Amino acid sequence: MPFPSEKIVIVGAGQAGGRAAEALRANGFAGAITVIGDEPHPPYERPQLSKAMLATRDAAATYLRPSEDWRQSLDVNLVTATSAVACDADRRIVTTADGRDFAYERLLLATGTRPRCLAVLGDDGPPRHYLRNIEDAVRFRQRLQPQARIVIIGGGVIGLEAACAAVKHGCIVTVIEAEQRLLTRAFPAIVSDVVAAAHRDRGVEFIFGATVVGSGGSFVRLGSGREIPADEVLVGIGVEPADAIARQIGLSVDGGIAVDARGQTAAPDVYCAGDAALQWSRCHDRAIRVETWANAQNQAINVAKSMVGQGVDYVDPPWFWSDQYDLNIQVVGDLRDADLIQRGRPDDRRFSVMAMRDGNLVGAICINAAKDMAMLRRLVAQQARVTPGDLESPQYDLRRALK
Ligand code: FAD
Ligand code: NDP
Repeated sequence: MPFPSEKIVIVGAGQAGGRAAEALRANGFAGAITVIGDEPHPPYERPQLSKAMLATRDAAATYLRPSEDWRQSLDVNLVTATSAVACDADRRIVTTADGRDFAYERLLLATGTRPRCLAVLGDDGPPRHYLRNIEDAVRFRQRLQPQARIVIIGGGVIGLEAACAAVKHGCIVTVIEAEQRLLTRAFPAIVSDVVAAAHRDRGVEFIFGATVVGSGGSFVRLGSGREIPADEVLVGIGVEPADAIARQIGLSVDGGIAVDARGQTAAPDVYCAGDAALQWSRCHDRAIRVETWANAQNQAINVAKSMVGQGVDYVDPPWFWSDQYDLNIQVVGDLRDADLIQRGRPDDRRFSVMAMRDGNLVGAICINAAKDMAMLRRLVAQQARVTPGDLESPQYDLRRALK
């Protein structure tokens, strides 16, 4: 058994922290594992918070395992409902808000991200919501009543998935987006347009190129002075890394906690996994935070293996999905500043867009084309050199492009 007497502390009991703890045990770590989480729950996955948990009243959260499994079968000391507030990196001790000290030989930061706040929304305006945890989802779900005027600030994934749920409950939905189109971070315009049309068909109103400067009574106010009626406001304008402990350790944090391909930070024996980690992406050709379910699982497992001396470089291209009405959207790699190739027709609501840079496939997005995506994930991972003419033909079997 590797490192039998060691103590590992994991700060953050989210998906990455939870999967890492499981992987430590699965890979033979027999020492003590403490997982510290500030939520009152054992680790759970977040995708259902903006999907099933908003769409239906009785959908439960998706826990990684039942709570007792953590303490028993995994033999993990799961400390919930308290934050890690201090770390003495010289003495290797983490202190929690309730005054307990936890010694470690190796430390994993799996602190994730927190919603970016919109400070201009005052207390005298309509109730404001963010969507990050179970309590947020339960509270917002209760407000989705027929004819309720729901104003969503931010046309990103949270905003749009929440819009789907609100429509389903008969709400009147307005989405305010600072850019001139939806999902500018990851989607080319041709896909944004299809997504916007799906929402408009169901009555969602979009206000593009607008920012909210205040709120009051039952409205939010735009920079233009226009007032948008609102009973509830949901803010989904992106996230920021939860990096307070990393800063305490003395790590310089700029948009995330920098790690190498095995999750090691610049501090000895300190690792980072999940949303908080700033890692090199070959597709993007720069370091990025990968804010996805797949990364929170697979990169975290990989980092756990590194912590017990079994690491390999983590090189999976970023991949995520979003379900909106009858659209299953899947994205791999990076589609920005690239030559785009289209396969299939948007009018059929089943098509793919692929991105090439210098003759290499670096990204793809598939709408209702999961079979294409299965192959495109492998091709993007290989940065395959492909012929655009082949890719754009729906008859071309993508398997032929695999090395
Ligand atoms: P988190 O899940 O944020 O977990 C970090 C945990 O650490 C949190 O519980 C936090 O409170 C805790 N913490 C932070 N600081 C401290 C501290 N100092 N002490 C103790 N605890 C601390 N991805 C997809 O690919 N597809 C989807 O469809 C999808 N849907 C999503 C829907 C929603 C509503 C949200 C919010 C996210 C969604 N994601 C989706 C993204 C995905 O859930 C995240 O990438 C993933 O949760 C990241 O896991 P993590 O463990 O790194 O961070
Ligand atoms: P996103 O970054 O996806 O989207 C935020 C959007 O809001 C962007 O389009 C952004 O524009 C816009 N915006 C920023 N500031 C303002 C403003 N002041 N007024 C109006 N619009 C603004 O973040 P989300 O909040 O949607 O999602 C948060 C997290 O949840 C992410 O980590 C995401 O990965 C995760 N998530 C993932 C899902 C999925 O993968 N299916 C589903 C739900 C959540 P700009 O880009 O110009 O800043």
